[in-house]
Amino acid sequence: MNIWFEETHTDGYRVHWRIKETLWYEKTPFQELRVVDMVDFGRALILDDALQTTERDEFIYHEMITHVAMYAHPNPQRVLIIGGGDGGTLREVLKHPEVQHVDMVEIDKRVVEVCKEFLPTIASAFDDPRAHLFFEDGVEYVRKAADRYDVILVDSSDPTGPAVELFGAEFYRNCRAILNQDGIMVAHAESPNFFRDYFKKVWSNMKATFPIHNMYVTVVPTYISDFWSFAIGALSIDPRTGRGDKRQLDGLKYYTEEIHRAAFVLPPYVQRILEEE
Ligand code: SAM
Repeated sequence: MNIWFEETHTDGYRVHWRIKETLWYEKTPFQELRVVDMVDFGRALILDDALQTTERDEFIYHEMITHVAMYAHPNPQRVLIIGGGDGGTLREVLKHPEVQHVDMVEIDKRVVEVCKEFLPTIASAFDDPRAHLFFEDGVEYVRKAADRYDVILVDSSDPTGPAVELFGAEFYRNCRAILNQDGIMVAHAESPNFFRDYFKKVWSNMKATFPIHNMYVTVVPTYISDFWSFAIGALSIDPRTGRGDKRQLDGLKYYTEEIHRAAFVLPPYVQRILEEE
């Protein structure tokens, strides 16, 4: 069998992964949803032909979108996740014993249902009583939310389709408005090399919205071959140092206190992009 899944990143850059088989395909009201079994990366979730997560390397993205803010905050009890339908970010958030309540707002119910069936090691925490799921647009949710949160994690798909407004300035302002006074927000900011415009847009939103704002990076093998970046905004806490007196959680495969601090060290070419007007 010689079946390949092709992902087009830019006009000049495509990636092919060999797959064993397609396990699920459907058109939901929001997007094309596919689960494939890859030769090298295990099962993978694909939305609108964009690879979202794979069994083999999902831990890097999910630990890094989650634990930097969760360890920077001294007592993150209430957490909001926007997107995140595969469940990996929810799984990581719920590892923190001080968490009492997580609201997760995913626009597409089918992503959660299909991930529960085909990606159970990622979608493993939906039954936790602290988890509360809302199937609606995250943009609308933060516009009208009355609740307050300690940490907001924006685990969105790339800025196309229903995710476009999650990269807009108004969304950031509305997130800030529902954070507690020591609140922290994280949003993934794509690749500085290949998606410079989106990288800069997320950065300028974070900069305009939060008095404390930083960018940190990691590398995820199945994302585009570059750093994968996260913008972090805080109202009063410097998020660049990690754990304080909190203990390292058992079983993490990527995040450590040293990785936390190192992730904020940016190469000069990335730093220069952040300084551009
Ligand atoms: N880790 C992934 C990545 O960066 O490739 C993203 C993971 S997660 C699957 C992204 C989720 O965001 C999708 O399930 C999608 O349905 C959801 N989403 C997109 N736009 C949304 C919106 N406006 N409100 C809530 N969820 C949204």
